[in-house]
Amino acid sequence: MYIVPEAVIAGLLSRDECFRAVEAVFASMARGAARNFPVIREALGYADALYGFKSGFDREGLALGLKSGGFWPGNAAKGLTNHQSTIFLFDAESGQIRAVIGGNRITALRTAAASAVSIRHLARPDAEVMAVVGAGHQSAFQLRAALEQRRFRRVVAWNRDPSRLAGLAAVADEFGLPFAAVDLDQLGAEADVIITILSSFAPVLRVAQVRPGTHIACMGTDTRGKQEVETALPGRASLFTDEVLQAITIGEFQHAIAAGLVTAEAVTPLGAVIIGEHPGRVSEEEITLFDGTGVALQDLAVGAAVLEAAIAKGLALTV
Ligand code: NAD
Repeated sequence: MYIVPEAVIAGLLSRDECFRAVEAVFASMARGAARNFPVIREALGYADALYGFKSGFDREGLALGLKSGGFWPGNAAKGLTNHQSTIFLFDAESGQIRAVIGGNRITALRTAAASAVSIRHLARPDAEVMAVVGAGHQSAFQLRAALEQRRFRRVVAWNRDPSRLAGLAAVADEFGLPFAAVDLDQLGAEADVIITILSSFAPVLRVAQVRPGTHIACMGTDTRGKQEVETALPGRASLFTDEVLQAITIGEFQHAIAAGLVTAEAVTPLGAVIIGEHPGRVSEEEITLFDGTGVALQDLAVGAAVLEAAIAKGLALTV
């Protein structure tokens, strides 16, 4: 078996390779060839930690395995990342373990790839202003992947604590784009594409702040109770997600579903757009809303690609 430690993963895979792995597995899901198994997530009653498993199998890509990990709020004080995860891949022919792979960077890469896939397939082709709501650990990964999807001319961003926006300004600078820290009214008035990436338990972006034609990727809500946009917003938009069951239970759409404003039938898996079963955006004025809840198959697809790259570069340890 192989071990790919967290420390060797940065730089193993290009953003484009991550993008293609995630796009392909969303397509597999839409064809019914790949599925995510029920998620387990439990409070440990120790160190305030949340811990769980996400697992699945892709019959087309033959990725079988799980991501195990969770959230340890005390880690930051120890100089560690609060979110910790590890990916386990198994041989689909025999069930034998194939690899253990650090999951922290892969989580950021596959999450950024998901919103990027949504932008590629759902944003207006002429989108020029990219907006980010949130400036935590995931946000720079999100912005880098998003900026490659359209010919953006400007980046605007908002964070509760504006002093943390320097990281996003630096990413805009990498792309040679002007950057502005703005309030949410200005952000919505300017943006063609908005990514929300918050760990908030109350809505932050309001319906009145979003203009027609915007594409929004809500990427932060992955647990019951979390929320990034006003409950009414999904009722005004065309709805897409990675996996419908997750979107309506632990994703951003949980609130609009509970309020009776939308139904599960109104939510389209992004994979259906990728394989051409659904047209995606059908008008310039439509607001498209992608709820990226994060599924195991993204981790397995990117994990498998990382493993192949690590083997090819001699960076995978053999046990
Ligand atoms: P982080 O803790 O580094 O950053 C959190 C951000 O949310 C900060 O910008 C903070 O200011 C903001 N925030 C928190 N509470 C807020 C509130 N009440 N109002 C306004 N802003 C608020 O977190 P991160 O690692 O960047 O992750 C962001 C979110 O994405 C988390 O909820 C995490 O669980 C989620 N996540 C989702 C996926 C997925 O696949 N969808 C993957 C990884 C992480």
